[in-house]
Amino acid sequence: MLLGSHVGMSGKEMMLGSVKEALSYGADTFMLYTGAPQNTRRKEISELNIPAAHELMKANAITKFVVHAPYIINLANTVSPETYELAVTFLRKEIERTEAMGSDTLVLHPGSHVGEGEDAGIASIVKGLNEVLTPECKVHIALETMAGKGSEIGCRFEQLARIYDGVKWNSKLRICMDTCHLNDAGFDVKNDFEGVLRQFEKYFPLNQIACIHLNDSKNDQGAAKDRHENIGFGTIGYDALYGVTQISEFADTPIILETPYREIGGSADKLAPYKLEIAMLRNGTFNPKLFD
Ligand code: FE
Ligand code: FE
Ligand code: ZN
Repeated sequence: MLLGSHVGMSGKEMMLGSVKEALSYGADTFMLYTGAPQNTRRKEISELNIPAAHELMKANAITKFVVHAPYIINLANTVSPETYELAVTFLRKEIERTEAMGSDTLVLHPGSHVGEGEDAGIASIVKGLNEVLTPECKVHIALETMAGKGSEIGCRFEQLARIYDGVKWNSKLRICMDTCHLNDAGFDVKNDFEGVLRQFEKYFPLNQIACIHLNDSKNDQGAAKDRHENIGFGTIGYDALYGVTQISEFADTPIILETPYREIGGSADKLAPYKLEIAMLRNGTFNPKLFD
């Protein structure tokens, strides 16, 4: 299994710091944003310190990682042309950065239709993806399964399939499954993840899943909320999430934790939980006392 978390990328070290952070958690993969997820300020590719990062990855046999596009990209917005145009322009640059960094997977939230309805939103996403994807593109865009908060598109597999259907170069598309989002969208991740995969397979083969976001949820199944919880502390629970890591089809798929920082060992500040969560998932036992 390939297990990691999202990591930062900032300061002088940039991507080298991201790899160091991943290694400090005992991870063998990771996910990063090319800058703050809530804005579009980005450094030049030459300033990302990519060669040094790759040397350290090589020394530690890390071969796969994924990039996440910022949340503010909304290809589904048909109300504000500027928002849509920014999304297209920025997404093109994210594809360039992802390729330059050496990843073949860019995770993207499909978008929110902001009141104009699912059909209009999906048509706009398709149009945007058709503007950025080319047959030469080495990067796959992995559409993330969403919780269905607000007017989010991508909370049903059928919606993702409609996006695939409309995109000309859809061999460049993939799926990122987020367990918290699936739970909040109404899927029974807790008791029947195999059943969720069978539903998925009505639309896509499992090999379309290029990344898994492994998160517990603060909310009940179907709450349409999207609030992540630490592994074993939420409504999905440790056993079901551990089960996801053991599925043989995902042996080579990056499994990424996006769980919240929390107090650990009575710390004053909230700390990254990833080292403990990765250890608990590798050894197959939930041990909440590790966080005390
Ligand atoms: Fe996401
Ligand atoms: Fe996610
Ligand atoms: Zn989320």
